[in-house]
Amino acid sequence: MTRTPDIASGRLNDTALAVNFSDAHPPLTKEQAVVEADRCFFCYDAPCTEACPTGIDIPKFIRGIATGNMRGSARTILESNILGGSCARVCPTEILCEEKCVHNTREEGHPIRIGALQRHATDWQMDHGGQPFTRAPETGRRIAVVGAGPAGLACAHRLAMHGHDVVLLDAHDHAGGLNEYGVAAYKLAGDFAQQEVAFLMEIGGITFKGGQKLGRDFSLSDLRRDYDAVFLGMGLAGVRALGIEGETLEGVQDAVTFIENVRSRDKKTVPVGRRVVVIGGGNTAVDAAVQARRLGAEEVTLVYRRGHEQMSATPVEREWAQTNDVTVRLWSSPVRIVEEDGALAGVEFSRGAATGDGRATYDAQDTFIVPADMVLKAVGQLFVADPVSGDSILVEGGRIVVDGSYRTTMEGVYAGGDCTVGEDLTVAAVRDGRDAAEAMHLALCAAPVSGVPA
Ligand code: SF4
Repeated sequence: MTRTPDIASGRLNDTALAVNFSDAHPPLTKEQAVVEADRCFFCYDAPCTEACPTGIDIPKFIRGIATGNMRGSARTILESNILGGSCARVCPTEILCEEKCVHNTREEGHPIRIGALQRHATDWQMDHGGQPFTRAPETGRRIAVVGAGPAGLACAHRLAMHGHDVVLLDAHDHAGGLNEYGVAAYKLAGDFAQQEVAFLMEIGGITFKGGQKLGRDFSLSDLRRDYDAVFLGMGLAGVRALGIEGETLEGVQDAVTFIENVRSRDKKTVPVGRRVVVIGGGNTAVDAAVQARRLGAEEVTLVYRRGHEQMSATPVEREWAQTNDVTVRLWSSPVRIVEEDGALAGVEFSRGAATGDGRATYDAQDTFIVPADMVLKAVGQLFVADPVSGDSILVEGGRIVVDGSYRTTMEGVYAGGDCTVGEDLTVAAVRDGRDAAEAMHLALCAAPVSGVPA
């Protein structure tokens, strides 16, 4: 008789799910924000600003909060980072601006809560003032932006500000990219990602077209024919396989799809195993593991092939996993997915030993099995180059090659964000989109208007 793994939806009731997926870090009150802002030294040559990939003038925006100038504070953030609201929620500030805060060198050792203050200011703007920027007179230029994630949105907004018309194309039905589909629901709680997209679109001049996939619904040469310039910000659409026996069994899925399901569906309808094994060591692995637990999985084990130091999940994420009852096992490499009576039963791992250089050797004879009803693979994402293959876009090391002005090797085509070589951070993608837009604007201003088809 074929056994079926214990995978079910609705393990928790609506009330429990609402609590489990509410805001992981509730916002500061006005009083808390002012007290925190007053701790800032408003440093000259502020190291926190140096550490921000988008270069937000952090002391200036914090001073705005301290002096009650909320409009000025928000504008300071948003003129550098139009997605400052989501970055405030998902940025690993503890390894960026907050790590560099001079308060860390003082006895009490607490950095200014820059992310929380940034959220306070940008939330105020979205609640009170709406879009703070206006469009320049229309230029008559039309630009296609492929991918409506952080890079594409930042690019589209900056181009629209400069008076260009932008068509924003994305394979998903909704804009937002990773903010909408790819991070844990409690990090961007409620419909914040869509609220931020709507806020950004208030600039005008941007037309969003969902369900449009490059290589399926249109080609790059179509875009080059119909538009003055193109920006590629498609992110990473592929996921790495484990390449081991049993990977196709029911109940084995990639963590990216699992996270997307949690984000886009009624949580009560998302199936989750009673015992879940997550394989991987990055933030995606942690997001999947904690959300599985918060959907009602009884046991969640995150297994990584190397040690804490080598995990790409930040220390704060690792702690988050542990405080959410996720068991973390290190130095263990998956050997096979275990099948019993035709069904998923667990994962066999071989134990490893550190070699001293951060790597490990694994003993094929020394293995153990972690029982599982569901296995989530989070061993990396890949740029899918097929949609641009055949065009003269150079791809190296699995990413699109760009120069210092975000130009690809195809004339008039620019790229940025995760599909190019870089830090794979939301805030870095925003910087890429913004700076690519500036480069495109400069190039278009220098070129004669060419009579682009309407
Ligand atoms: Fe304020 Fe810290 Fe930045 Fe100095 S380093 S400006 S104290 S947040």
